[in-house]
Amino acid sequence: MKYISTRGQAPALNFEEVLLTGLAADGGLYVPETLPTFDRAEIATMAAMDYPAVALHIIRPFVADCIPEQDLADLVRDCYREFRHEAVAPLVQLGSNEWLLELFHGPTLAFKDFSLQLLGRLLDYVLERQHRKVVILGATSGDTGSAAIEGCKRCSNIDIFILHPHQRVSDVQRRQMTTVAGDRIHNIAVQGNFDDCQAMVKASFGDRSFLPADRNLVAVNSINWARIMAQIVYYFYAAVAVGAPHREVAFSVPTGNFGDIFAGYLARQMGLPIKQLIIATNRNDVLHRIMTTHTYARGELQHTLSPSMDITVSSNFERLVFDLYQRDGTAVAELMHRFQNGDISFSDTAMAEAQRLFSSQCVSDEETCQLIYDVFEASEYLLDPHSAIGVKAARDRRCDSLTPIITLATAHPAKFPEAIEKAGVDFEPALPHHMLDLFQREERYSVHPNELAAVQAYMAVNINA
Ligand SMILES: *Cc1c(COP(=O)(O)O)cnc(C)c1O
Repeated sequence: MKYISTRGQAPALNFEEVLLTGLAADGGLYVPETLPTFDRAEIATMAAMDYPAVALHIIRPFVADCIPEQDLADLVRDCYREFRHEAVAPLVQLGSNEWLLELFHGPTLAFKDFSLQLLGRLLDYVLERQHRKVVILGATSGDTGSAAIEGCKRCSNIDIFILHPHQRVSDVQRRQMTTVAGDRIHNIAVQGNFDDCQAMVKASFGDRSFLPADRNLVAVNSINWARIMAQIVYYFYAAVAVGAPHREVAFSVPTGNFGDIFAGYLARQMGLPIKQLIIATNRNDVLHRIMTTHTYARGELQHTLSPSMDITVSSNFERLVFDLYQRDGTAVAELMHRFQNGDISFSDTAMAEAQRLFSSQCVSDEETCQLIYDVFEASEYLLDPHSAIGVKAARDRRCDSLTPIITLATAHPAKFPEAIEKAGVDFEPALPHHMLDLFQREERYSVHPNELAAVQAYMAVNINA
């Protein structure tokens, strides 16, 4: 399988190359040149498979020319063994024909474990074979950093450096990063804010002279193709559990960067009968505004109760734009270049297609709290604020009550106690059993001033041989 850039000017890559690349050289994002498709009979067989078997089935065609099937099977089994639920991604019924797909049973209690557990193993496998080592560098405001560290903690060919804003992430989030043991795990607390951390990461990708000559720098943010690929799996797994391909299904997806819901779009393109895909956003509603005004405009960043969706630009949306413009890389490049300097409008043809594919809704903090409260009152099920946004949008936007609707539950409520308290629910969500000693575990991180040179000097001397 070949991967091509959404801006049409960068060389096509194979899976192994795309795994080790972030942005394409032309500034675009990589997407598969063609998608594998599954017919009804093949989808029906997935109903009898466990999660790793479905994962193998979906992922195989994307990596086939790079990873032998047996190696992939071992890698996928090993990956999902880390999850603390036999079903890996269990479905819970919330109402009549209304379901939640719990994606928070991984090591860090959020759905990013699905992609980053796999990404770490894929990287280590490929690096081992190439006798290479790399450095992963990322900035985090919370969830991504811990999931990346957990995903890489057993990788002997990766040094991982994660920058977080000092004293500006929650205690649970910091401890999930800093209590993971390993010589190759490096947590850096920067005396600045998240944007400062991100600026340092960006500058380091631009000037890599602080690195030893034999090390490449790899990004693990959600533009990495392998992360999207891993997320396609649970759409198939959940849909067949509620009756696909014999019944159509609908999904509601709390999203910010358009990563998770883009995976749902791909699942539909690959043959899964998805009747409706709902984009659920918080007050950072750039995606909802695109759908309603046809204009892509950066808003002001709002701090909400669902911080993992607090964004102003939705990077993965470019992957959809590429399809909306008939895969015309030149047209996408032209649009995205204009977006650097201001708002852009999409063509009527493109937007008509987008509206055929997606519904959307923006949900406020007040509505989020009300929904958490209502669901707890009705069934004593506690939703985290991100998942609550998905459920709210599902209830308001579902096209009919006969089609089963599945909301992706992206985080465990214990990660966001502030929202639960604000919702007026008189019940404190406990951390799962395996994390009860989180506050007794030893932490390791170093605090640095908000200076690029200091941080780079620290990285240079701490990269392992
Ligand atoms: C990252 C994250 C999201 C948003 O994911 P996208 O890739 O932007 O769709 C939603 N919920 C939680 C809990 C997250 O950590």
